[in-house]
Amino acid sequence: HHRILLDKRPTGAPQLSDFRLDEQPVPEPGEGQVLLRTIYLSLDPYMRGRMSDAPSYAPPVEVGAVMVGGAVSRVEVSRHPDYNEGDLVVGDTGWQSHAISDGRDITRLDARVTHPSYALSLLGMPGFTAYHGLLKIGEPSPGETLVVASATGAVGSVVGQIGRIKGAHVVGVAGGADKCRYAVDTLGFNACVDHRAPDFADQLAAATGNGIDIYFENVGGAVFDAVLPRLNIGARIPVCGLIAHYNDYSALPPGPNQAPRLMMQILMKRWRVQGFIITDHWAEGFGPFLSDMTAWAAQDKVKLREDIVDGLENAPQGFLNLLSGKSFGKVVVRVSDL
Ligand code: NDP
Repeated sequence: HHRILLDKRPTGAPQLSDFRLDEQPVPEPGEGQVLLRTIYLSLDPYMRGRMSDAPSYAPPVEVGAVMVGGAVSRVEVSRHPDYNEGDLVVGDTGWQSHAISDGRDITRLDARVTHPSYALSLLGMPGFTAYHGLLKIGEPSPGETLVVASATGAVGSVVGQIGRIKGAHVVGVAGGADKCRYAVDTLGFNACVDHRAPDFADQLAAATGNGIDIYFENVGGAVFDAVLPRLNIGARIPVCGLIAHYNDYSALPPGPNQAPRLMMQILMKRWRVQGFIITDHWAEGFGPFLSDMTAWAAQDKVKLREDIVDGLENAPQGFLNLLSGKSFGKVVVRVSDL
């Protein structure tokens, strides 16, 4: 039973030494419990927040505890009336090879599922985030210009593809030529701009000739600065993530305060800026999302690229790659065989 524990709270960018690999005997399930074997572990940007004890919408991981995370697992031993050995389930079981569950915190996957790891991306939390944020807050209409940051990530890639299904003109922002080419050639975006290019702001302006009607915010930082002057009257801004600030938001650098200028723009240009945390919307929204997305995936209207990391011991490096942009697509750790 291998587990990856939080060893230290990082200041700034996390390091491998903030994590510790630990070995224990495989736990035994009690009456009413199941023993789960992890197959796929999801790595997600929110985990940076859980490593910190700064105030947040969710409690931090304690130092010495198993890192939190969603995973697809197989039921190895069942002493629970509703689960059979061999069942595939999804749940927040963390960075570990095995877990015990009483059944309340796991959901069974359809036995016929062809791509179980999609329960952690396209047909799970990141896909639902894209769907809810774009359709409920962004409200795209045909012909409108949608700009999406981190355009090839789990959330951004799906936002842009749903935007195309809804008839929007979709412009992605991604790090590097390979990711931009993929956004246009494979995902079907109308254009994609490299945020690392020295003339990024000019390229974004050229790609958004009619201004920007929806900005799906995953990033913040310099991407937001380039988007801001392009936003049209009546623009909508689903504020989903601010990954450029996750290493420093509890100690933002001193500097001139831009908030009054931003608020004045929100007023004069009648923007709708709305933050959301997807867990608030599960009960009412996950069902409709899952039926739409299952159909879109079957018709090949929405694709998802995975970046598979082999072995639980490589999860910390996979996570650092996710935060720094070295990964390409949804990062999933293959912990054991299906
Ligand atoms: P991503 O794949 O989008 O996150 C990693 C990517 O972020 C990197 O590959 C890199 O892409 C980009 N990135 C990192 N730093 C910067 C930077 N300084 N400037 C620009 N881009 C940067 O992960 P997800 O798709 O899982 O998540 C996307 C966002 O959505 C995150 O901010 C996440 O926290 C948020 N989220 C919010 C939820 C909610 O309920 N509100 C739920 C789920 C996710 P590149 O190489 O292209 O620069």
